[in-house]
Amino acid sequence: MGQINTPGLVLRRADYSDYDRMVTLFTPELGRVDAIARGCRRPKSPLMNAVEPFTYGEFQLYQRRERFSVEQCQISESYYELRTDYDRLRHGVYWLRLLDASVMPDTPQPELFVMTLRALAHLNWGEQPPELTTFAFELHFLALNGLAPRMDVCAKCGRPIDGDCRFDAHLGGAVCLDCPSPAPRISNGARRILMKAPRTAFDKFTLLEDRPEWPEAAAQCRAYVNAKMYMEKVAPELYREDD
Ligand SMILES: [Zn+2]
Repeated sequence: MGQINTPGLVLRRADYSDYDRMVTLFTPELGRVDAIARGCRRPKSPLMNAVEPFTYGEFQLYQRRERFSVEQCQISESYYELRTDYDRLRHGVYWLRLLDASVMPDTPQPELFVMTLRALAHLNWGEQPPELTTFAFELHFLALNGLAPRMDVCAKCGRPIDGDCRFDAHLGGAVCLDCPSPAPRISNGARRILMKAPRTAFDKFTLLEDRPEWPEAAAQCRAYVNAKMYMEKVAPELYREDD
């Protein structure tokens, strides 16, 4: 109960009654917070710009029993470039949906919060293709949620893998070619990228651009995220065949 000051990133908003809006915030220590921003749709409301997706700032919230309201927000970054570039935007929207589907109330995730801000900075100002930044975000997101795929040993027989294999999303990683499996094959190059990527810094992902295996690794990773998070319902535009 009472006043709470916290950094927050707006994941989602929905209009509520005539002038209000419900916002979903991702905060480092409180996890997910759903809060009402009263009057934010009135002309000249100081909260007007604070309740847009991708806004990152210092939020002053008020908690009364289980309900939160947004009292004030000092915007730190609104990622303007990202919001005005359709290609970057659709990638960013996918990330917010992944976070919206995974961040829980009363569950601190400070590392995921910091990683998300770092990734958004790369998506907003970076030169590398958004596909590559999304690939980096997906693998770090999986790792910080304890879901990074295991690519160095067979998920069935436990033997070390050092070559082409299969990638079984359901079993959480690689399956050797000696074990029976209906999972899709993955090349050794793509397997090695998936093995190292969760521990690779964002600014190093640009080195993958010259590796012919990275689109295969990214496609396998997307299928894995899809299986883990059921995202095909949440971000269908990223699953079209012509992408
Ligand atoms: Zn095996």
